[in-house]
Amino acid sequence: MPASSGSELEFKFQAVEEEELEPEYDVVIVGGGPAAFSAAVYSARFLMKSVMIGEEPGGQLTLAGTVDDYIGIPEVIASDLIERFQGHAAKYGVRLVMDRVESVEELEDSRKRVTTLGGRETVAKAVIVAIGSKRRKLGVPGEDKYNARGVSYCSVCDAPLFRGAEAVAVVGGGDSAVEGAALLADYAKNVYLIHRRDAFRAQPINVEALRRKGNVKFLLNSVVREIFGDTKVRGLIVEDLRSGRRSELRVDGVFIEIGFEPDVEFARRNGLGTSEGGYIVVDDWMRTTRPGVFAAGDCTSAWVGFRQVVTAVAQGAVAAYSAARYVRDKWG
Ligand code: NAP
Ligand code: NAP
Repeated sequence: MPASSGSELEFKFQAVEEEELEPEYDVVIVGGGPAAFSAAVYSARFLMKSVMIGEEPGGQLTLAGTVDDYIGIPEVIASDLIERFQGHAAKYGVRLVMDRVESVEELEDSRKRVTTLGGRETVAKAVIVAIGSKRRKLGVPGEDKYNARGVSYCSVCDAPLFRGAEAVAVVGGGDSAVEGAALLADYAKNVYLIHRRDAFRAQPINVEALRRKGNVKFLLNSVVREIFGDTKVRGLIVEDLRSGRRSELRVDGVFIEIGFEPDVEFARRNGLGTSEGGYIVVDDWMRTTRPGVFAAGDCTSAWVGFRQVVTAVAQGAVAAYSAARYVRDKWG
């Protein structure tokens, strides 16, 4: 794969659905989100013949509205950011073959046979797994309709968009929800923390800090039954599980922070060690427990609790560096 700095290169990116994979690559990157694009750009810069295999370009960014925490590009529309990532990968000639990787099988000489759901197959000297992790959804009416129009899954990403808002709600009882509510309390006038139990999974010190905020109200033993609005979120129907009583809560936004669902099955199937939470265990250099397999982004055990585009792309770059070193050390 040529790594060129020529500005005459055609930047237009095309995700390839029909095309076959070449028989062999230095690095195969699994995934199509920010971590994967970063790994692709860096792999090519390290002169690795590389390809991305992913479901669609963008990953979780396809569900986002505006991104205002990617350094250097303030208030960028998520789809524009995806296009920029695509253009950058295209500049380095890395294709995204739209498919889903099923298995990464060990060959006798340490290379890996990569097989996809769509029946494609190739061989790689190294593999970078950047398959993300799904943010758990509530599954209530209005959740999808108002996604990015008041419904958010990331307080750290979107809290500043609610500066001066009358009221916002956060759902969940783990550290993400509790820390998210604390952050939001600095932006919005009123914050409701809605949790289905009265005991918290979050660290007690975080819960105590939240209780000290003057503008946070705890709605415990309570669940959201519906998110309603017009062009954007206007409120929630909340049910008190003890009394069964349902009431309307007026809010401008709702942050659903109820945990993540990493693809533990992929890790198990491919012999990758996982953490207690089901994330792929990596060391500082994004090496997994399996030699020649690296991982990056939301699927990894690194920096759990702080999931950002910038952290995903940082891990993608490090994984590419490590993969290139591994390939060079082993195959020259
Ligand atoms: P990601 O965006 O979840 O991307 C992972 C991609 O890999 C998904 O498209 C996924 O498709 C695909 N994939 C999963 N299993 C696969 C397989 N076996 N074969 C091929 N592809 C597979 O994850 P990321 O790149 O690690 O991280 C993105 C970061 O952006 C996260 O930290 C997130 O929090 C952050 N983010 C921030 C904002 C913001 O507003 N600041 C907004 C959005 C995202 P499926 O989904 O179909 O499985
Ligand atoms: P989590 O610890 O898995 O907590 C998820 C919370 O959402 C739980 O309170 C759970 O309720 C609730 N929940 C799950 N499904 C629900 C549903 N369908 N409806 C309503 N509520 C639901 O997830 P997290 O808070 O995202 O944290 C993930 C990991 O990152 C944890 O290890 C956490 O400690 C770490 N983290 C650390 C920091 C930090 O240290 N600064 C910050 C953020 C996250 P139940 O309690 O009833 O199960």
